[in-house]
Amino acid sequence: MGKLFGSSGVRGLVNSALTPQLACKVGLAVATHAKAKKAVVARDTRVSGLMLEDALVAGLNAAGADVSLLGVVPTPALAYLTRGLRADVGFMLTASHNPPEYNGIKVFSGDTLSYTEQSQTALEQIITDNSFALADWRGIGKARSLNVGYAYVELLKQAAKLRKPWRVVVDAGCGATFHVAPAALNALGCKVTAVNAQPDGYFPARKSEPTAESLTSLAETVKALGADLGVAFDGDGDRVAFIDEEGVFVDFDRALAAYVAYTLKKRGGGKVVTTVEASMCVETMAERYGGKVVERTKVGDIYVSEAIKRHGAVFGGEPCGAWVHPRFHYCPDGPLSAVLLLQALENEGKSLREFIAEVPQYMTLRENIKCKNELKYKAVSKIEKTLTTAFGSSGKLSTVDGIRLALKNGWLLIRASGTEPLIRLTVEGESLKAAQDIMSKGTALVKANVGAA
Ligand code: MG
Repeated sequence: MGKLFGSSGVRGLVNSALTPQLACKVGLAVATHAKAKKAVVARDTRVSGLMLEDALVAGLNAAGADVSLLGVVPTPALAYLTRGLRADVGFMLTASHNPPEYNGIKVFSGDTLSYTEQSQTALEQIITDNSFALADWRGIGKARSLNVGYAYVELLKQAAKLRKPWRVVVDAGCGATFHVAPAALNALGCKVTAVNAQPDGYFPARKSEPTAESLTSLAETVKALGADLGVAFDGDGDRVAFIDEEGVFVDFDRALAAYVAYTLKKRGGGKVVTTVEASMCVETMAERYGGKVVERTKVGDIYVSEAIKRHGAVFGGEPCGAWVHPRFHYCPDGPLSAVLLLQALENEGKSLREFIAEVPQYMTLRENIKCKNELKYKAVSKIEKTLTTAFGSSGKLSTVDGIRLALKNGWLLIRASGTEPLIRLTVEGESLKAAQDIMSKGTALVKANVGAA
């Protein structure tokens, strides 16, 4: 059996890699491993959600765990409420930003952190060995529905105090934020226009991953309505993307760096965490405001969250819109980030465009090259052997995640995707020309090795 758990729990094509049988086993394994008596389960809007939920709950009940069903809420709400309800474990049925035919199971512990690699390896072992601790028939757990999504909306309402009636266009992409995000912004006094705010597991309106391309319609709407900003989430609401008042998609790295700057300015310095993939503008802004990027982790929000906790950092995030606010909890939170960003704009007296303008604009380019799951890691380790020679560089090579080569005028990162059959290339250059040169050399090298892997 191949590896079941990736950087975001179990994820795969429904009824192929991810079946109800597997969901049931995950329920049994987690209850066995954590000796869990109390579990919380939520899902995003995917059509396979209820089917997998039933199977997961059967496994949990069979191992003696009682389950509270929260229905459709964002991933950060599930993490927050797992702690709030004093449960031993929380489950989110989601494939995040992946297409609708995928689904996944992400497991959270009671401290709002998702399961570490170590715990996931233990689960994998239990599943492989079929060593489930089934309950005596009298000890079988119960499941009940619990309507507590409002407690998460309350968290968002408490997180900011806005005086200005901000005109915000919210795009839930038919995903798990469809209700809570517009509700919270309304409650904060914003003038909200909600688009794609009907729950629909086919994601008919746009791709679930918020990108400049998938948000063109939102950008046009922001401009047409003369709104202050647009806010969009991925399928499960742990990522956020912004459109500025001119209808322009805000670069993920610069948004992250601008919020890093604001946080450090407000706190008088502090530690920040990001991943190997983020732009060097995060360091530039952190240092400008007396803070420090203390760690560049592997890609994957769990690594950022763990490092934030370990270092006592004030903020951290990934340049895909996954921002972690440790004051509240350790799960990346899209709606909370949107609310806190509005507060930041109001405190600074700036429009979104002005807020971002302070961040230097280095050139980041990203490309994905298809590579089968079973070959992708092998291909990357082959590239590692030839990378330095290919670039004729004596730059610093880091292997925290994939391979990252620092060059005189930028850097290059080549890594196998944790969740998809892809090799991801990220390049940053001081100028567009520098970035393009690095990227064309990099893609040629990857393509040669994908063919030969
Ligand atoms: Mg997500």
